Amino acid sequence: MKLLVTGGAGYIGSVVAAQLVEEGHDVTALDDLSTGHADAVPSGARFVEGSITEARGLLSEGFDGVLHFAAKSLVGESVEKPALYWSHNLGGTLALLDAMRETGVNRLVFSSTAATYGEPPLDGTRSRAILETDPTRPTNPYGASKLAVDTTLTAFAGLYGLAAVSLRYFNVAGAYGRFRERHAVETHLIPNILKVALGERESVSVFGDDYPTADGTCVRDYVHVADLARAHLLALDACTAGTHEIFNLGSGTGFSVKEVVDVCRQVTGHEIPTVAGPRRPGDPAVLVASSDKIQRELGWKPGRASLETIVADAWAACQTPESGPAV
Ligand code: UDP
Repeated sequence: MKLLVTGGAGYIGSVVAAQLVEEGHDVTALDDLSTGHADAVPSGARFVEGSITEARGLLSEGFDGVLHFAAKSLVGESVEKPALYWSHNLGGTLALLDAMRETGVNRLVFSSTAATYGEPPLDGTRSRAILETDPTRPTNPYGASKLAVDTTLTAFAGLYGLAAVSLRYFNVAGAYGRFRERHAVETHLIPNILKVALGERESVSVFGDDYPTADGTCVRDYVHVADLARAHLLALDACTAGTHEIFNLGSGTGFSVKEVVDVCRQVTGHEIPTVAGPRRPGDPAVLVASSDKIQRELGWKPGRASLETIVADAWAACQTPESGPAV
């Protein structure tokens, strides 16, 4: 298929673009390089620098589908600058959808998020794995803006026959060969811990140790970027005109911040000092996915699910010179 990958110079977009190229698809990566890196676009894919709000000309070349990753994606930043998130994530996607309709491109795989759910429902006193049928009550503008896109996609499937699949990611981590997380301002837990092991930082801050969890730190569900990317290829094939399907993507197992630090210590052999800090605004205590639906309906099977493997792959990639500078 001839495919457009928006955000194809970013972490997840570049891994998906690489797997699509490996599968023989004709891939164009569109990225404004606001947070991505041109050298992250896999060889074998065409790179176009530009905004999703100006994709009409490109789409008029004729594409079979769009995989849409380009977005603002930091919870903390979204709390500080909500309008930026509404404008980029919802406004940008509406412009992209208009351009798709005008040029007759009907297939879309959308990068959604666990943040659409907000605080998970309680099962007795314990939170349980989140299902796609659970209520969506985002606790930050990032999650709210992504939920607004999901709502739009459902409407457009009914109104215009759009063939859409949203994948709601939990915590994506690890690396795929040379493709790894490279953010100018790194906010994510695993890359920040590995910076300590690399000697780039003295310690890692633990954002809150008074949450209602076993050790007081937040629990998250970490999914390997290679497994997550594979789900996009399955989703692409599953897109059906007039429907919008939503699937969670996680491992089904939660790890606390302290447990993640411990695994990183084992993998790197570094002591990794921690400093207890205040809670980060907008962070729910526990987010764990049920991925039963995508396993059952699309046959997705995570092959690199263990946290040790995820951290080991991230650790290997950030020591590989071909990855380029971690800026
Ligand atoms: N976290 C932390 N220290 C850091 C970065 C993150 O304690 O330097 C915590 C954060 O509060 C959250 C978890 O680690 O509970 C995962 O955060 P991350 O930013 O990696 O992903 P998110 O869950 O926000 O998508």
